[in-house]
Amino acid sequence: MLIIFDLDDTLIDTTNRLTPIILLKTLKVMIKKGLKIDDEKRAYQKILKIDKTSIGSKQTIKKFLYEQKADKNFYDIAINSMYLPLDGDIKIFTLHNAIDVLKYLSERHSLALVSQGAVKLQFDKMEKAGIDRAIFSKIVITKVANKGFYYKKIMDELGYKSNNTYVCGDKIEVDLVPAKELGCITICMNWGRKKNINKTYVDYTINSLEEVKKILDEKLR
Ligand SMILES: [Mg+2]
Repeated sequence: MLIIFDLDDTLIDTTNRLTPIILLKTLKVMIKKGLKIDDEKRAYQKILKIDKTSIGSKQTIKKFLYEQKADKNFYDIAINSMYLPLDGDIKIFTLHNAIDVLKYLSERHSLALVSQGAVKLQFDKMEKAGIDRAIFSKIVITKVANKGFYYKKIMDELGYKSNNTYVCGDKIEVDLVPAKELGCITICMNWGRKKNINKTYVDYTINSLEEVKKILDEKLR
């Protein structure tokens, strides 16, 4: 089998542990560039509150700047700062047992990774989380949401049909809808910014990566 993973909130604990750090850094950068804020602490609390109901940190910043009635150019400043490499002392955490699960799966299957983001930042996160890039036969980091194109490309290059390809990610629209459209088997990681799970595109819902082992082991039987 081929298993294609997403990175953020599938292998790495992004929303809970990394996003608050990045949002604070972004706020500090915007203030440094002239954003008028009465109280930095209160502004940060406001951002965290917005982030709780937002679909992504870019949207969080957009809403925050709108509420502040801030100049639009702060949005570009914020986005640029979000994609900067991580500070050396930032710790990145995997989801529970990610490294062991990946190792187990890699001894039995082909693994690939398709992640949306900036190459340097994504590789930086993997390294800091202790995820060995060599464990994946293919890695694609893409700036735009076109995962289906890469799923197909990877399946062709590694010689897998869609009925032997599993795609595991947390975002249904971005990760799983294109996979389902190709005929792949979809595994939804119940993590991150989850509201409701649309069963049309989800074959399995998991709360821990350990469950991927179970799903694949059953298939081999
Ligand atoms: Mg994700």
